[in-house]
Amino acid sequence: GALGGPEPGPQHRIRVCVRKRPLNPREAGLRDFDVVTVPCRGVVVVHEARQRLDLSRYLESQSFRFDHAFDDSAPNELVYRHTAQPLVESIFRGGMATCFAYGQTGSGKTHTMVGDLSAKGQGCPKGVYTLAAQDVFCWLQEPSYQQLELRVYGAFFEIYGGKVYDLLNWRNRLKVLEDGKQQIQVVGLQEEEVSCVEDVMRLIEMGNRCRTSGQTSANTHSSRSHAIFQIILRKRGKLHGKFSLIDLAGNERGADTGSADRRTRLEGAEINKSLLALKECIRALGRNKAHTPFRASKLTQVLRDSFIGENSCTCMIATISPGMRSCEHTLNTLRYANRVK
Ligand code: ADP
Ligand code: MG
Repeated sequence: GALGGPEPGPQHRIRVCVRKRPLNPREAGLRDFDVVTVPCRGVVVVHEARQRLDLSRYLESQSFRFDHAFDDSAPNELVYRHTAQPLVESIFRGGMATCFAYGQTGSGKTHTMVGDLSAKGQGCPKGVYTLAAQDVFCWLQEPSYQQLELRVYGAFFEIYGGKVYDLLNWRNRLKVLEDGKQQIQVVGLQEEEVSCVEDVMRLIEMGNRCRTSGQTSANTHSSRSHAIFQIILRKRGKLHGKFSLIDLAGNERGADTGSADRRTRLEGAEINKSLLALKECIRALGRNKAHTPFRASKLTQVLRDSFIGENSCTCMIATISPGMRSCEHTLNTLRYANRVK
């Protein structure tokens, strides 16, 4: 690399971290209790207790090791610092970076990525989208990057039921095309030029409103769609680097394939397919494999150029709920994250 010594090998292109959220008042009210501990750096343990405070019943515990594990006291800034932040500079060197939030609905994906847009004013935590944008504008001031005369753009779209919708353009349905040179294009995707972090925050807010407007239930909808926010660097119009930040559909939705309702069933199958494809593509990236199975889903297809090439790197933030009642989903999330490494 121009600045930072040798390029990292393929195994360094992937970081996998886990974030546990606090037990919330609703769960406490249902007498749920915390079964997840983060005993030391990078380790998560799930205690499969059957009854509260009955220590003799802590019969089984399963532990997992990751690049980082954050307990419920970690603020967004700390999570960001160990996940997406180390990847930001790579896009100035022509790299393609991705950061995924993966987990059960309600485990903190949106809290991590988008932050709390509703709680205006004091104490409202910034999410990874905003924190990454902040750093992009910092790096832009670096003399060696300044001379590249890069321009910064934002794009925001979602994949719902295998279809792509532009969140910066009234949920306009977009076509994905592959040309003869295997280049993937999301045709007509709106890119807004941004010149400060406030511009980016406006885009995020606009896209988020668009994501949920007209939907019968905002939460159900977002649990079934992948939201992809991109920070794009262009040099005289040509793509230079890109950071894709993704708030994935709830992983429990992949199991909806047994549902009685046909639509729910199809959506569940689609989510399942895309999460499996994602796992395979990330694994291929980490092992320098010649073949990346990106065509297996719309999600991996639109992210193709981020899974291929020497300058691609990715991080996954697996978010988990602490409660006993979520134990099965939590273990599923941890097993998936473990496989991605
Ligand atoms: P998801 O997007 O995975 O469905 P959310 O991000 O919407 O989950 O989180 C569900 C609820 O839990 C929200 O009210 C959110 O503010 C809260 N929450 C999630 N993670 C945290 C955290 N680390 N600290 C405090 N509250 C959190
Ligand atoms: Mg969400």
